[in-house]
Amino acid sequence: MNYRHAFHAGNFADVVKHALFCRLLRYLQRKDGAFRIYDTHSGPGLYDLSGDEATRTMEHEAGISALLEADAAVRDHPLLADYLAIVRPEHAAGRYPGSPLIARRLMRPQDRLSAYELHDEDAAALKRLFAGDPAVKAIALDGWLALGAHLPPKEKRGLVLIDPPFEKPSEVDDISGALAKAVARWRGGTYAVWYPIKRPAMVERLRASLAAIALDEIAFAEFLREPMTTEERFVGTGMAVINPPFVFREEAETLLSLLAPVLGRGSMATSSVKVARAGA
Ligand code: SAM
Repeated sequence: MNYRHAFHAGNFADVVKHALFCRLLRYLQRKDGAFRIYDTHSGPGLYDLSGDEATRTMEHEAGISALLEADAAVRDHPLLADYLAIVRPEHAAGRYPGSPLIARRLMRPQDRLSAYELHDEDAAALKRLFAGDPAVKAIALDGWLALGAHLPPKEKRGLVLIDPPFEKPSEVDDISGALAKAVARWRGGTYAVWYPIKRPAMVERLRASLAAIALDEIAFAEFLREPMTTEERFVGTGMAVINPPFVFREEAETLLSLLAPVLGRGSMATSSVKVARAGA
């Protein structure tokens, strides 16, 4: 395991992923009943933007730092309000929050988070971050195993974020194998799977395998900061959502169009949100 998210924290893909994640979390708050969040690939939970890893790449400059300097019409948009309320104070202190911390900030007293991380150092940092917090279980465990063993939650409502590093060729098969087991154990959960957009063939294979697992509806929200070419390059970011909330498509379309002029390279950004129904 070589991947360390500290090199990429707050980049354009994190902004898109976490802004959409906040909308999914906010939707869960519409009912009073408790929800559970599973974050299968949590990372350490908080990143130092002045640390060695982040300063070597400075990826946040074209991500969260650009967004925080964008026009007020973008920064003050209600669909970004939760995300920026969480991120702004951390950024001012030279940090960027990861998905488990973002989830924690949008939980109410009755809600719970199970956060998994396999890398020793990142798992230790995650445990330190949530030490003494009874609403969070930070677990040093393979997230794929958790999907097959820890679902469904007793809360019966909730969201699973699956955000693997995509450093192994087997990642598409790992995701589909584990997700198929998870959906069979908990068909009512919402599952958000992040993916990089680098090569059309990989994206098409992932979309097809996830669509085959969804029992009802699946949405694919994709943002390309520049057009895909035959050369393999990290041009875009995607999120597939199994059992999306009914507002997801509209909100994601608005959010991605809002972010395009800020995160795109020149005026080359494009985005799309497509919804497919099982068996259609
Ligand atoms: N979700 C985080 C966020 O949005 O802030 C970023 C996660 S990063 C893309 C992927 C993480 O997965 C890395 O911290 C890596 O160490 C961890 N990881 C890799 N394989 C794993 C596995 N099988 N189970 C759990 N974590 C794993």
